[in-house]
This record gives sequence, C-alpha cells and structure tokens, in this order.
Amino acid sequence: MKTYLLTLLLATSACFAESLQHRGIWLHPDQYKTPQLAEEWIGKISAAHLNTIYPLIWHRGGTAWFKSKLSPMAADVPEGFDPLGNLVKLAHARGIAVHAWFVNGSYGGPATNGLFTLHPDWQLQGEKGGDAWYDLGKPAVRNFQRDLMLECLKNYDVDGLHFDYIRYSGQVTCYCDHCQHEFAGKYGFRPMNRSEDRFPALLDIGANPLGKPTTAKVLATFDHGVPAITVNRLDAGEAVLVNWQAAGNSCLALDNFVKDTLERFGAKPKNTYQLHTTQTAAKYQPTGQEKARVWLKGLGFSAKLIDESALAKIPKGATVVLAGQYLVGEETAKWLESFVRAGGHCLFVDGPVFAIKQESLQRVVGMRGTAPFFHDWKVISPAPDQDVLKAGPPVDAAKERQRMEKWVEYRTWTVTELVRAVYKGAKKIKPRAWVNAAVFYKKDSADKVCQDWYGWLREGCIDYVLPMAYTEKNEQLAQAFAEWRAADPQMERIIPGLSIYSRQEGKAVPRDLALVRSQLDMCRDNATHGNLFFSLAFLNDELIKMLSSGPYAEPAKPWYPKRRK
Ligand SMILES: [Zn+2]
Repeated sequence: MKTYLLTLLLATSACFAESLQHRGIWLHPDQYKTPQLAEEWIGKISAAHLNTIYPLIWHRGGTAWFKSKLSPMAADVPEGFDPLGNLVKLAHARGIAVHAWFVNGSYGGPATNGLFTLHPDWQLQGEKGGDAWYDLGKPAVRNFQRDLMLECLKNYDVDGLHFDYIRYSGQVTCYCDHCQHEFAGKYGFRPMNRSEDRFPALLDIGANPLGKPTTAKVLATFDHGVPAITVNRLDAGEAVLVNWQAAGNSCLALDNFVKDTLERFGAKPKNTYQLHTTQTAAKYQPTGQEKARVWLKGLGFSAKLIDESALAKIPKGATVVLAGQYLVGEETAKWLESFVRAGGHCLFVDGPVFAIKQESLQRVVGMRGTAPFFHDWKVISPAPDQDVLKAGPPVDAAKERQRMEKWVEYRTWTVTELVRAVYKGAKKIKPRAWVNAAVFYKKDSADKVCQDWYGWLREGCIDYVLPMAYTEKNEQLAQAFAEWRAADPQMERIIPGLSIYSRQEGKAVPRDLALVRSQLDMCRDNATHGNLFFSLAFLNDELIKMLSSGPYAEPAKPWYPKRRK
C-alpha cells in the first residue's frame, strides 16, 4: 500500500513537472527598478504560481531600464544598478521566464524631452493636437528600434522580445518629406494636401454625436447628414457644439473656427473655465479632457480646470468649456441653462450624449437627442444656409477616401517592416528567443491603427501575440474568442491578455476576484494555453491566494507555441 501511494505520488509530481501553461504578467519599472522592489515583487509572482514576466524596459521618450549604448538609463534607478540584469537573475532562479517589453510607436513623453530633442525628425508629422508618436515610416527610426531590441537580446539572458504600441494612434498621414515621397513613389499619385484652412475637410473621426437639432443652427454637417458643428442662442448667451472627439483630432479649418468662436466669446484666461463633471470623472479616464486643454492652449486659450463644486465662482458672461463630458448631473444642467440665459458662453467638444434627456441641457445646446456612433473617414462640409463658415475648395470624398485607404496600407507596411526586421535579427542572434507582441484585441480596431497582427501570424514574422482584452464584459470577451478562434482554431499563437484592475470613480482598483476567475474559466473553456495579466501592481494577496489555490494550484512551466521551421 505504501509503495502504491509513493508511486502514485511520484507519478503525480512527475505529471506536475510536465505541466505547461503560459501564466504571464506585465510589470513596470516601479516593481523592479531597485533590488528591494525586485525581490519583493518576484516573491509575489512566485507565490501566485505565475511563470512568465514581461517587464517594461524601454519607454518615456527613449528611457531604458537596462544597460544600453543607445538609450540612457532611467534617472530613478540607483547608480550602477542594472534593473533588467537583476530581474532576469531573480526570475530565472525561480524558473520564471522573462520577455523584454518595448513601447515602440508611442513616444511616452513630451516631444520636447528625450530622444526627439536629438532627433526631431523621428517624430511623426501628423495633424496637430495628437500625442507624440515615432515615425516608423523612416528607416532610421525602424533601424534604431531594431538595433535597440537586438542589443538587449544580445546582452541579456532574456527569453524573448515583446513589442507594445506597435502601431500608430490612428492618425496615419505623415507629412514629412520622406513619407510623402515614399508614398508617392509606391502609389503613383501625390498624397493628400495638408488640411485646407476652410471646410470641407476630410478627417478620420470617432464620434458619439448629439442629434435632432431643435433651436440649434447647424453650421457644418458630416457627409451622412449628422450635424458636425452647431450654434445655439439662448436669451443673452450662446452654446457652440463641436460634435466629435475633436481634441487631438482637429484640422486647420476647425482650429480657425474655434479660435474665432472663443475670441467672439471674449475668452481670456481669467474668465475661461474647463468644467469636469463628477459623474464623467467617475466613469471615464481624464485623457480626453487633458487633450482638450492642450489643444485649446495651443490655440492661445488657457482655461482654468474646475469641477462642479466651483460653479458659483464662475462670473456672469464667462466662457465654460465642456470637453468629453458625457454625463452631466441635473443640478449642473440647470446651472448651465441659467448661466447661458444670463449671457454666458459654452463650448461643447464631444457633447453630453448620455445626459441629453435633461431638458435644461436640451435648451442649452438646442438639440434633443443623439445620432448613432461612428468611426470613419468623413467629410465635414459647411451647411448651405449659414454664413459663419466660408466654404473652401470642394473635396472629392470618394477619391480622398481611396487615398486615405492607401495611407493606411502604407503605414501598416511601415509597422510590419519593423516587426519583420526584429524577428529576423532576433532569430539570427538567438534562434530560441521568442518574438511576441501586445496587440489590440479586435481586428477592426487593430486595422484602424495599422497593426496587422493577423497578417504577421500568417506570414510568420511573430511567434505569438497577446491581445489586450481588458474588457469587464464577458460577452465581449466571448466575441473576441470567436474572432481569435476563427483565425487560430487551436489558439496556438494567441495568448489572451486579461486585466486584473477595474476603474471605480476614476481610480484604478483591483478587479473583482469573481470576474477575474470567470475570465480565466473562459480561457480554459476556449482551450487557450494560458494568459497574461495586466498588471503586476494589482496582484494583491487575495488574488495570489485565489490563483495559487485555484486555477494555478498545480505549478506549470511556461507554455510556448510550436517552433516555426
Ligand atoms: Zn514621415
């Protein structure tokens, strides 16, 4: 009996040792940039029975958390310390694999700092108001990033290289000489001119628009008839609406209009306020508001940021900007109505769609409903019966759309070129190293940002991808599985990235354990070979316990796909 038990025990432990599953987690320098931090967090990773880590080692305007001849070490790393080298040692001692995480497309810092100060021409020359992005169209930029990633692979015992932000922001046209010439050479026609200073203008627009104008005068429309810019007078005051996410996605014609409007309002720093509603802040990240602040500042208008507790301080006749404030409480809506009636001015950018049922708000904007969400290339044209917006030369929408499709094709190629170059170089240096990428989880979203990961998998220039499916809605995750499995039925090269945090009242908090567990169960039911969590900062004791006593109770070695021939 004893022998039987021992044999059983041995057989079971042998089986444990054989078990393979990719149990990954992303981590930031804040969890490993000093020896103490690394020790503390690697202990937690180990306790949770995770077996693969993806530490961020290059971001923030070309800052490194590894020793590089090409990029300076981050300033907050103790003198002489090598964060990545230390982490690799600690991880490997515990059987944990390490994939070096690079942020490729997004610059991650003000363009006035870091790498762009040495190489200003490495920044994408897109439309104004966007974030800083690398121009991957330039061979110099791609070569630099390739050399940097390969330098890391050569000098460190890492198990793989991990791309992130391997894409653009969605604004794909680059106006630099190189891209303009290369584009013209490839496609045989001149690329689009820089935006005209008057409408009509063609823009790639994401909008959750207001609709059904009542008293609002429509100044411009999208080419499917939905109002794009409206103005509404109410007693002594006025409200202007720019009906899309225009901050960060503007054009010269809109910049001119907004400038004229704010000048007409008499907007000065002392009487201009950008209002954040509590309800919006609780549900959405502040990125949209920040973009609006930067955009207006760039146009010469500084606004004081305020919340609803300070409404009483706003003087009569002032200007209030509401950018991306989708939710507005009843009290604030009433206040806005009396403020405008008494001669106040409002500029709405990306209007209060989820609050438009309130009659006060309807009277302020002069609209009483919404129009369907869209994300598409749209021509914005001046409305016929108005004289505020003077019309510029006509735009042939069909032709321009075709050109823009070619831009997407061209920019997609530039991203794929970097992936190919790194893959090829990595396999030469270390054939056993894995090259992988964090990607948008839905194909149509990935396509819009020039991230052709389905194409990379088909071509074989990436070993596996980690789609970032951070949704809290399991029906959306189920749809994602259907999409992934249609392309990769065995889930051989797709490892889902799941979130372990949620947003509550504008703050990131650890995600409900039952939700994390249910999503892990969905991974199991869809026969995935593991998953990745975002991110380590939210790996708390409760989650460690849930994992190590539940789905990860049995230790496992990291799973990887079959080697490509
Ligand atoms: Zn360019």
